[in-house]
Amino acid sequence: MVDIWHHRGACRLCSSPRVERVVPLNSIPMSTPNLGMPGDEALARSIARERVPLDLYLCAECGLLQLLDIIDPAVLYTNFRYTTSISVGLPEHFRAMAAEVSERAGLEAGDLVLEIGSNDGTLLRAFAERGQRVLGVDPAVKAAQAATAAGVETLGTFFTKDLGRRIRSDHGAARVVICNNTLANIDEPGDLIEGVKTVLAEDGLFVFETSYGADVVAKTLIDTVYHEHLSYFTVAPLERFFAANGLDLVAVERIWTKGGSIRGFAQPAGGPRRRDPSVDALIAEETAAGLRTVAPYRSFRARLDRLRSDLTEIIGRAAPEGRLAAFGASVGGVTLISQLGLEDRLRNLYDDAPMSDALPTGEARNIPIKPSSALYEDRPEAVVILAWRYADRIAARHARYLDEGGRFLLPLPDVSEWGAKGTGSL
Ligand SMILES: [Zn+2]
Repeated sequence: MVDIWHHRGACRLCSSPRVERVVPLNSIPMSTPNLGMPGDEALARSIARERVPLDLYLCAECGLLQLLDIIDPAVLYTNFRYTTSISVGLPEHFRAMAAEVSERAGLEAGDLVLEIGSNDGTLLRAFAERGQRVLGVDPAVKAAQAATAAGVETLGTFFTKDLGRRIRSDHGAARVVICNNTLANIDEPGDLIEGVKTVLAEDGLFVFETSYGADVVAKTLIDTVYHEHLSYFTVAPLERFFAANGLDLVAVERIWTKGGSIRGFAQPAGGPRRRDPSVDALIAEETAAGLRTVAPYRSFRARLDRLRSDLTEIIGRAAPEGRLAAFGASVGGVTLISQLGLEDRLRNLYDDAPMSDALPTGEARNIPIKPSSALYEDRPEAVVILAWRYADRIAARHARYLDEGGRFLLPLPDVSEWGAKGTGSL
């Protein structure tokens, strides 16, 4: 077996070995819809059979909630096929973000904006339209090539301290460095932050968005827990980590993406901006919620157990013949399937734009992924909408399935049947 995952014994932010497993979860298959290994089908098949632990750990020293079982990023990302423009609503979000960041950073025409994890260049294009010079970095080589071909110069590699140095010498210091939904995906964020410091102008601003750990816990957002997503950041551990690495966190906002995220702004230590009250306000909320103690994580686990038993019950009523399927192939969907006990129940998985033909669910079997048109031929009794945040859109698009007697079930925020009276609870 190729050594494609490992367990680390210490916190990734503060290196403390005092990490406690606070949410044990079912191990999940390593392969995801993102995994494609051209030229090595045998390796891909062998990877697809492997299960990797998905337990959540809490650092007693700094309070970071995190995964400690790490899949080799080369395996996870090199052939990453997900692109931003597929995500409904995000381009608009990016244009608004470009406007806000320009204002906060006091950007002028020609200033350099660097984005780490820039994907297909959607956000950078919004800055370019405003007159900034832009440069992207993304290890997904195909996305980087496509972005460059479309006019957003993008380096197809991982961002490191060395790359930060090279960019500064080739392009000058960046007034803004952006890192959206990437910081949480990196096992050693210290190297990335070193690189950010290296490339950032003295009066520059580092801007990041990341899923908010406090929302993941409070709202039981189990479908945001998967191996790409290594850290479930809250403000307190991040502020401490930045300070230890020469950056001051100066403001934090809560935003809606991914069911609950934060957008943070940091500057080189001693920079021109004053710290906004938002930082201490969120730290106080996190303390009040007990996020440094095990209690909220026990509740999370208990709510997860409840979701599983509620879902089992509603499936028993909605699909008595066992003709059950699911909708929405994604990495979060793999987690939902394995944590909610759906692995052996689903006959098919449907998606409006399938990117692979099977979702691996472990040694025993793969769940076939079909285009959503097949829903009308297969006519399952009930379909669990794994992409539950888009349930209204999916149900509207597939109203005919409902008209013909089909039933849509939602696993979150509470187990429910779509369209049932009092939707939102069982
Ligand atoms: Zn720590």
